[in-house]
Formats: sequence, structure tokens, C-alpha cells
Amino acid sequence: MPADFTARSAAEIVAGLSTEQKAALTSGENFWETKAVGSVPSIMLTDGPHGVRKQAGDSDHLGIADSVPATCFPPAVALGSTFDPALLERVSVALGEEAQAENVGVLLGPGINIKRSPLCGRNFEYLSEDPFVSGELGSALVRGLQSQGVGASLKHFAANNQEHDRMRASSDVDERPLREIYLRGFERVVTAEQPWTVMCSYNRINGVYASENHWLLTDVLRDDWDFEGLVVSDWGAVNVRTDGLVAGLDLEMPSSGGRTDAEIVAAVRDGSLDESVLDDAATRIVSIVQKAIANARDDAAYDSGAHHALAREVAGRSIVLLKNDDDLLPLQPTASIAVIGEFARTPRYQGAGSSLINPTQLDDALTSIRSRHDNPDAVTFAPGFTIDGSDDAALADEAVAAASAVDVAVIFAGLPAAEESEGFDREHIDLPAAQLELIDNVAAANPKTVVVLSNGGVVRLPFADSVPAILEGWLLGQAGGSATADVLFGDVNPSGRLAETIPMRLQDTPAYLEFPGEHGHVRYGEGIFVGYRWYDARDADVAFPFGHGLSYTTFDYGDVAVTADAAGVTARVRVTNSGERAGREVVQLYAGLPESTVQRAPRELKGFAAVELAAGESRDVEIVVARGDLAYWDIRVHSFVVEGGEYVVSVGASSRDLRSSASVTISGDDVLLPLGVESSIGELLSDPVAGPMLRQEMAELLGPEMSEAATDEGMVKMMASFPIGRLANFGAGVDPATVQKLLDAANV
Ligand code: BGC
Repeated sequence: MPADFTARSAAEIVAGLSTEQKAALTSGENFWETKAVGSVPSIMLTDGPHGVRKQAGDSDHLGIADSVPATCFPPAVALGSTFDPALLERVSVALGEEAQAENVGVLLGPGINIKRSPLCGRNFEYLSEDPFVSGELGSALVRGLQSQGVGASLKHFAANNQEHDRMRASSDVDERPLREIYLRGFERVVTAEQPWTVMCSYNRINGVYASENHWLLTDVLRDDWDFEGLVVSDWGAVNVRTDGLVAGLDLEMPSSGGRTDAEIVAAVRDGSLDESVLDDAATRIVSIVQKAIANARDDAAYDSGAHHALAREVAGRSIVLLKNDDDLLPLQPTASIAVIGEFARTPRYQGAGSSLINPTQLDDALTSIRSRHDNPDAVTFAPGFTIDGSDDAALADEAVAAASAVDVAVIFAGLPAAEESEGFDREHIDLPAAQLELIDNVAAANPKTVVVLSNGGVVRLPFADSVPAILEGWLLGQAGGSATADVLFGDVNPSGRLAETIPMRLQDTPAYLEFPGEHGHVRYGEGIFVGYRWYDARDADVAFPFGHGLSYTTFDYGDVAVTADAAGVTARVRVTNSGERAGREVVQLYAGLPESTVQRAPRELKGFAAVELAAGESRDVEIVVARGDLAYWDIRVHSFVVEGGEYVVSVGASSRDLRSSASVTISGDDVLLPLGVESSIGELLSDPVAGPMLRQEMAELLGPEMSEAATDEGMVKMMASFPIGRLANFGAGVDPATVQKLLDAANV
């Protein structure tokens, strides 16, 4: 590469290009590469997000053609359960090393869309139902990758929360939930980490395609959040290319075969497109190409054994121990064990679609359990069911017989790959009926039954009360089998936490009545009440709450001490490992404002911190909440506002296992709302200037007796919503000039 390509400024390079060359830069050469134009070389962008899916032969964006072997780390659904940014950063450093080794400049991830409904077919690729979790963990993923000189592509921007009709449907979301729930995680990652690229989604947002949404791609992303990188289209998301360019979409992927480049050139020539818009896009693209080239390591290689070991460590940390009655787990390596379920030997470890990785190796749980056991012959196996559901009856009988002959039965149940994938949504959240029946029958035959789950989207757990132990294993990547054995035998003490609620029934879920929409529109009618915010606001039962996850040890909490200053809130709590083995506790901080003047969830996660404690050890855990994280989106002033008042800050082991709470007074932001003729009497009376003036005005106008009656509490309540301007409509009432005088005084 000519050294002067990276030495010159991107703007200077672009200034030397013709209109045709600049237009050519703004779309792909092929499926995965940008175009080489003039002195600008091409770079490769490829999936993502939990491994490198580099296709050396045929190309597609649906995971059909093969890709080179790469470490298949646990998909985002599992990573979310770690609640561990530092660990995720290590994963993405490893992803960066693999991308470097494969000459990939940008890895297409992470995906941080909110899990609005458990039915979204792509939930396995997303981190959480909570924007704080997705923002924190998403930031770590971007940080690690980019530390290796590989760009991230934060996706899918934005409000892409379903697969149904994903290339056309409009996500109709009100301003407040859009900002507070659906954009907030993106805002966190963009402002903290400056991903090299952001990928716009396929869908429309409030009627406008993300790919040509100026408000989204320019007003919010660049102007509000100061995004400096480039916006790339999701593959095929471009509608009208020139509209996209004007909106802020820089790079179209994959190739349009030159068609849309020609449209851009024609638009510049006929004057309908200002060439400076093209210059901006081309400059951003050249900047990213420069970064990729400057950071490329020609001699890059990676240690696939070490990466497999990391994949195993992360998978072990992702597993959530949902229940463990009578300390059935960990298993004794001397116990006779019946391993049941096809997934024990044919692991379900990732989802289908563009994120499908060709793993470097694959561990299965059955082999790992046998090799960890003192006597492999004491571990029997019965498939119990087939993944495609054929011949289940005979297999079930054999499995139940195997279960009744041993100390412990471990059933590997889960969703068949065909039931969840990119491209379509699920229709229900049930495990296959044959597996549910098998679980019941095995549990009846052996009271010491453990269920291990493999599923990308949450499933209903009708057996939650009847089996003593359940591990939620999500999709754990290529080392999921060995990691599961690590947890089953206690070599790893589980510390995963639910980054999404497990509901009792699909019917209870927030978006149940408004998913996946109709006639091209999906209305986000549940507003800000997404995930646990919904269940908590309705005081509804859930199977397992957000943040839940047990350990083989126990943790006690002291009293939380909370202080506030201009920077935010600091909470300190002493946590003690009160059990008999070392463990890791994820301490969660929730905040609520019970007296809020706006709708709020009872509590929202505002911070978390993990602490590793030896048996009997205590440590103080400190969690700092930035003041801005307490803010809600105020639709009157179109910005985040911290409402003043008495906040309740709670720390605990889950959203429904709060161990200690304290109140703290926070002073609110000044919200300057000019008063007008539409302002209500109540608003004027509570204004420090207009309030006394209005009272005095009324006293003069009405005389002492009447004015006393008029400012009587009941009367004020009755009149509070009355727009001040309308007073002039009442004959002898306050005339318009007086009203204007009041308003002018208040608005100074
Ligand atoms: C997916 C993206 C992916 C792209 C390239 C699209 O279908 O939505 O997540 O990065 O294809 O494979």
C-alpha cells in the first residue's frame, strides 16, 4: 500500500477523485468488500457478531455457503447473561485477533437491539431486554474489537425488534420509549466507544426507512451523539440510494452492480444532489479504510486452542442456574448419571442466519460429562427424542427406564434449530411437546432430575415447579458442551444472570397484543414498559425475574449506603459469601422515583458490579450511577431530564430479590418551559414568578372574599387544567392583555 494513502487526510484524497469515483466508493465491490478506487484500496467487512464468518467461496448473508473455520464464541444471548464487561472485552479482543488473521477490516457486530418480544427470531443475537445492560456490554464488545485495530459495526440501528416483514415494516414508537429504551443502548455505545461503523436496520421507524432516516442517521446519531464513523446499510436495506445519502447513509452493502453509483452521479449532475453530501460520505469511507489499512497486521495469527479455552470460560459464565433445590447440583463425579436428550451429543450451540460460524472444534456435553466422571461407565445415555421430532415414543420409554436406574438424571432439552433463526419470528415460546412430556416422565421416575436448556429465545418452563434443578444454557458456542460439564460438576460455580425475564406465559409478555403488527406497521403500544419494567409495573408473576441466577454458594448483603452529588449517585454495600465455596456475585443496583410526575417503571437497573469472594469472605462493593443515567426523556423539551425528588436505590441479587434499599434526594434539572396562553392555571400557579402574580391579580380582580374562594384548594384543583388564555372568554374575567403581562413576566 502506498504509504501516502494513510498519511494524507481523507478529505484531501476525496478532493482528488472524480464524481464517478466518489460515487463508486459509496457501495460495495461485491458481497463483503468495499471498492478499490484510485489510491483507495478495498477492505473487507464480514459477520459477526460472535465469530468471524469469512466466506472464501460463495457469498450470502444468510449463512448458507461455507465460511472459513473460526472460533464460535457464545452468541449474544449467552454473553448477556455474564453481566461481565471485562470478560466480553476479552472475547472481542479474541474476535479482533481472528479478524486480523483473516484480513477483515470490520466485523459486523455487536447487535444490541432490545428484546421487545420473546418471539423475535433473532433474540439469540441480542444481549438483553434492558438498555443499560446492552449498552454496557455492547460497549465492551466494541472496545475489545477496536483495540485490535478492527472496526465494529453496531447494529441494527434502530428499533429492529422483529424479523417478520423486517425489510418493510414500520416500527411505530413514541418519542419517549424510542429514546429511553430503544436508542439508549446505542447512545451509550456510540458516545463511549465511537464504533467505526453503525449499521442501519432494514425496517422503517415511524414510517421512514432507517436507511433514509435523516432524523436517525444525522440529527440523532451525528448531531446529538457526535458519531464520527460511517453508516453502512444492512445488506440490501437501501431503498432510494440518493435519499439515503442525504439522510446520512454512507456505504451501501453489498454491491449494487454500479446501478446506484450511477444514480448518485446523475443526481449530482442534474443538481438534485449537492456534491458536498457525496464528499462527506466518501470522506467517511476513506477514513475508515485508512484506519483499517493502518491497523492491518500482515503477520496476524491466533491461537485457536487458547480461543477455544476462552470460549469455554465464557460459556461457563453464561450459564444461569435457575433453581437448585436441596443443592442437587453440583453433581458428584461418583454418582451414576443418566444423560438424556439428543442435545447432549448433538449440541445446539448457535443460531441460524448471517451469524452462523463454522467452528474450529465442537464440544458435546455427553463426552465432557463422561471424561469428567470418575467412572465413565457410570454415565449412561439415552437420546430421549430426535431433534426433528420423529420416533420420539420409543426413545422416551428407553430414557425413562435409564433415568429410573441411576442416582441422577440430566436432561438436555431445547429448541430445534429450525424453530428459531434470522429471517422469521417464533410463533410460540414452547419447547416441543415430546420434550415436555419426557421431562415430566423422567422427573416422575427419578426425583433427582436436572434440566439443561439450549434455546436462543426464552421458553416457557411448565416444569419449573416439578424438577429440582434447572440450568439455562442458552446457546453456548463451540465449547458449550465442556462448559456445561464444568458447571454441572462444580468446577465452575455458576454466576450467570438473566438479562431477560422468563415469563409464565406468552400471553403475559409486554408486546403480546402488538407483535408483529399488521399491514406493515407494528405499534409499540407498551411504551417504556418493556421487559421487567412491564411485569413490575403490573405486579405480575414471572417464572424467573430479570437479573435472577443462583450460585452453589450464598451471599449476604449488608445495608446499602447511598450518597448523591452533582455527578450522580454512589452506593456502597458489604457483600459476604456465606456459603462454603468460592463464588461470584453480580450485585445489581435498581433505582426508582415513586413520586415521579411521569409514568415510570417501579425500578430500573442503573448499575451492576461483580465480586468474586472466597467462602466466608466479605467485601465492600461500590456502584456509581452517573447522574445522566437517572434521566427520563422529557417530550416537552425533547431531551433527557433528571427529575428532582426522593429516589429509592436498591441493591440485590435480582430485580425481585432486593436485599437493601435507601432513599436519596436528587435535585432536578431546570426545565425551561416558556409559559403561553395554552399553559394551564395550575402550571402558572406553580411558577415562581407567575404564581404569586396570578394570585394577586385574582385578588384585585375579584376582591378578597371571592379570591379566597377562587384560590381555595378544591377550586384550584378544579381550575388547574384550565388554559390561562381561555379566561379571557369569560366576560368580566382576566383580559388578554393581563394574561400576556403575566406570561411575559414569567418568561423573562
Ligand atoms: C443481517 C446483518 C448481517 C448482514 C450481512 C443481514 O441479513 O441482518 O446482521 O450483518 O446480513 O450478512
